[in-house]
Amino acid sequence: MRLADHTTIGLGGPARGFVPADTEAGLIEAVQAADSRGEPVLILGGGSNLVVADEGFDGTVVQVATRGVGHGTEPGLVTVAAGEEWDAVVAGTIAAGLAGLECLSGIPGLAGATPIQNVGAYGQEVAQVITEVRAYDRKEQKILFMPNGQCGFGYRTSFFRGGDRHVVLGVTFRLDPDPLSAPVRYPELAAALGIGVGERVKCADVRSAVLGLRRRKGMVIDPADPDTRSVGSFFVNPVLDAAALARVEATARARCGEDTKVPRFDAGDGMVKVPAAWLIERAGFGKGYDPGHGARISAKHTLALVNSGSATTSDLIALASQIRDGVQDCFGVRLAPEPVLIGVTL
Ligand SMILES: Cc1cc2nc3c(=O)[nH]c(=O)nc-3n(C[C@H](O)[C@H](O)[C@H](O)COP(=O)(O)OP(=O)(O)OC[C@H]3O[C@@H](n4cnc5c(N)ncnc54)[C@H](O)[C@@H]3O)c2cc1C
Repeated sequence: MRLADHTTIGLGGPARGFVPADTEAGLIEAVQAADSRGEPVLILGGGSNLVVADEGFDGTVVQVATRGVGHGTEPGLVTVAAGEEWDAVVAGTIAAGLAGLECLSGIPGLAGATPIQNVGAYGQEVAQVITEVRAYDRKEQKILFMPNGQCGFGYRTSFFRGGDRHVVLGVTFRLDPDPLSAPVRYPELAAALGIGVGERVKCADVRSAVLGLRRRKGMVIDPADPDTRSVGSFFVNPVLDAAALARVEATARARCGEDTKVPRFDAGDGMVKVPAAWLIERAGFGKGYDPGHGARISAKHTLALVNSGSATTSDLIALASQIRDGVQDCFGVRLAPEPVLIGVTL
């Protein structure tokens, strides 16, 4: 069994052991068994945020396949098992007349992975609506209920990210029992809907607009679209202080013309978030950039690195390093990878 068959980018060598777990008891048992043997464990969801080494994973891969969606006694409270497919969860909540997840339509993977990197898109992120994460603590060997405030959510991160102590078993969301969406905050989405920023429309309309935008960028998995053989965005948008932003602005003016404006979003505390795609393009790596070894930049989205079919993980990492170093040399900004890297470093 090669992990390439279980990752959306189609990369990754063999695993020593592979255990699919379709019950919660089975999931915990598989993890406990590997732990008692002292064997490394990789929890696998949909494999859409994973880059695994060509050498594979020398341990047990436990594939989360638990199912179940429950509605709480309070209207809008929804508890989802970790193995539920995320986009089906989003579609289901919209069909049930609940608002709060509509902008997160079309994101691949499973519900249990959404708290790990605080999945977000088009102005929404799961941290805004998660009330509680239920997780198995491998160290204490017990099940914990972690309220939102204990999850350490931030931009594409959480307390869970970077550690492997907790296995997410289920996630509870507090959604708004309202067929109208939350106010649309993202200008590109508002424009696609023909509304002003801050206005509300039917959640179903937001979902179809988001899916349309995402498809045009190769951000909805589609076997017929080779640009979707990726892990989504490969780099997170860097958050810069005033001095770093001033350096980027000076370089951008010198390279691209005096009237060049660096796009930025407020990140609080005097910091700004600058789109990594903008920096990558200005550093000379445009859409479709292809060094010719099988890993290339998507023709639709600068941030997505794609396996054109013949790539290895080493090829992908070589491309990512080239881009990261190019941006660093040009702007003095070091980009960080968004996916979880297993057995490889960048
Ligand atoms: C085309 C495309 C578009 C994307 N667009 C977006 C986007 O718009 N926004 C965004 O935020 N992300 C996006 N992503 C990234 C990815 O879809 C999300 O991060 C998703 O939540 C990963 O889910 P998964 O089930 O595939 O996790 P996996 O890739 O299987 O795992 C990711 C990490 O989470 C851990 N993990 C998974 N499940 C559990 C669990 N139950 N308990 C503990 N640890 C677990 C894994 O061990 C691993 O470390 C995109 C990816 C692709 C391929």
